[in-house]
Amino acid sequence: MNPTETDISLFKRLRFVLVETSRAGNVGSVARAMKTMGFSDLVLVTPRCAEPLTDPEAVAFASGASDVLEGARIAGSIAEALEGCNFAAAVSARLREFSPPVWSPRRFSAHAAAAADLRPAIIFGNERVGLPNGIVEQCNVLINIPANPAYSSLNLSQAAQVLAYDCRLAAEGENRTQEGIGFQGEAASLAQIEGMYAHLEEALVAIGFLNADNPKKLMPRLKRLFARTQLETEEVNILRGIARQMMRSKD
Ligand code: SAH
Repeated sequence: MNPTETDISLFKRLRFVLVETSRAGNVGSVARAMKTMGFSDLVLVTPRCAEPLTDPEAVAFASGASDVLEGARIAGSIAEALEGCNFAAAVSARLREFSPPVWSPRRFSAHAAAAADLRPAIIFGNERVGLPNGIVEQCNVLINIPANPAYSSLNLSQAAQVLAYDCRLAAEGENRTQEGIGFQGEAASLAQIEGMYAHLEEALVAIGFLNADNPKKLMPRLKRLFARTQLETEEVNILRGIARQMMRSKD
């Protein structure tokens, strides 16, 4: 059976694993960080706080993400927490002598979003002691969040927020041809854009703006301008309509 679109989405594939978390409030905050960014798979390995899923501090800090908190699973070992995963990333403020390759959050999120068959887990350590070397050494990569060298240790849930945010950007980028614009039409093909340039050039010559014998850099400059905009088919048609009108007015 082919995986469905939703199975392929990083939002469904990415697991957050918290190892030996001490503060229940941090567990709740991680649940919130995850839900705000669209993630929900949370596993706690031998938490050091009692009843982390129902502790009032956890519930309060989870706020509207109580479903993620309630849906979290508790595992007795890291191996159990990673069942079903085929890629493990240790998230650590500390670089170590014996460590897997060190990746930035951006590199990890791009890799995880691009490989639809990857079932990645990001593994966070205890608030005070971080992740044990034994776990870090089992991981495929170590993710280090670039930070102030004089004080680089983020709060656990804030580290989770940074990762969740970056993974959200990458996951959305998978299906997106342009960013930052609410409405998105069909992207124009290269052939459509080339046709529009030729049409526009002809029209600019017709109105005497472009001298065919001495064109200078006008067309390359216009092409560079349009290349920055991710033209849509409808926009190309409008520009061709303008070119048509320019030529008609010179008839
Ligand atoms: N004193 C601990 C820091 C613990 S902070 C140590 O030396 O490791 C709790 C967790 O937040 C860490 O285990 C790690 O998973 C994450 N974290 C905090 N700051 C981070 C950073 N700059 N880069 C990557 N992970 C970080």
